[in-house]
Amino acid sequence: MSKKSTAPAGCPCGGPSLATCCGPYIAGAAIAPTAEALMRSRYTAYGQRNEPYLLATWHASTRPTEAIMSDEEKVQWLGLEVKSALRLRQRKADAPDLTQDTVEFVARFKINGRAQRLHEVSNFVREPAEGGLRWFYVDGSFPE
Ligand SMILES: [Zn+2]
Repeated sequence: MSKKSTAPAGCPCGGPSLATCCGPYIAGAAIAPTAEALMRSRYTAYGQRNEPYLLATWHASTRPTEAIMSDEEKVQWLGLEVKSALRLRQRKADAPDLTQDTVEFVARFKINGRAQRLHEVSNFVREPAEGGLRWFYVDGSFPE
C-alpha cells in the first residue's frame, strides 16, 4: 500500500488500530460484544461524521429524529478515556445474558477551535436485533 495518510495509526478511540478495534463494528462486519465496545465505536463514528451508524446504534426509544451533526459546527475529536464499565466494576465474568450496562467516559473535542470536555455516563441496553443480540445506546447523564 503506497497510499499516504496523515491519520494517526491507532483507532480514534485509543485502540491499537481501526481495523482491529472499531472498524469492523462500524462497517457492519461484526457486532460490538460489549457496551464499552459499542460506546467506543460510536465515539469513532462521531469523528468520521458517520451519522447512519450513530442512528443505527441508538435505541429506537431515544433515537433523534433530526440531524445529529450540523454542517456549521466544525468538531474535532481529540481523545477518549473510558472511566469504567459497570460490568467491570461489579467484577462479573463476561455475561452473555447481560441486557443492560453503563459506561462512564470523558471525551475531549474542539468545536470551532474551542476545547470542550464531555463527561458522560451512558446507558446501554442489549436486545435481539438483526444478526443477533445487539447493544444500543439509550441515553446519558452528566456527573459534573
Ligand atoms: Zn476503537
